Amino acid sequence: MTELSSLILDRIRDVPDYPQPGVLFKDITPLLADPVAFDAVIEELAGLYEVDKIVGIEARGFILAAPTAVRAGAGFVPVRKKGKLPSETLEASYDLEYGSATIEVHRDAFVPGERVLIVDDVLATGGTARAAVELVRRAGADVVAVAVLMELAFLKGRERLTDVELHTLVVV
Ligand code: AMP
Repeated sequence: MTELSSLILDRIRDVPDYPQPGVLFKDITPLLADPVAFDAVIEELAGLYEVDKIVGIEARGFILAAPTAVRAGAGFVPVRKKGKLPSETLEASYDLEYGSATIEVHRDAFVPGERVLIVDDVLATGGTARAAVELVRRAGADVVAVAVLMELAFLKGRERLTDVELHTLVVV
């Protein structure tokens, strides 16, 4: 195991049955509270790809994507839950275990052809990341990769992202 993997794994807290019974929630707040570990994660994410924009997925994706963008000298673009962005948007919906969710991005968030990295904290079923990839492509940008702090391999989210590069800092 690399030094970075253990820095991350030692600082992610498993919370059983949150937000609902049967879910083992991966709580990244201990990692965020440790300036050395948080900095190491941002340093790693910022060095992965040459991109113009870094997209963060609401809400924990923002916490990772915004400092990564600053460190990488790239712009930051928020992908938000429906109804939160003030200007004209594009939207994408995806299924959740119960019901569905819709995410949005500003229609003018990218210059056509811009290179984009999408960042989130956890890849579970892959529905959120899949929708974000579609959204960014429809907005005219080129998705270089999706990067997540942690991949929950047993949920097979990777299988929904076969047409895009996926970089995960730790896999459990
Ligand atoms: P999914 O669309 O199933 O891949 O879920 C990914 C999104 O839900 C990410 O934005 C995560 O923040 C959140 N998420 C899903 N499962 C978990 C989990 N077990 N622990 C923490 N966050 C999760």
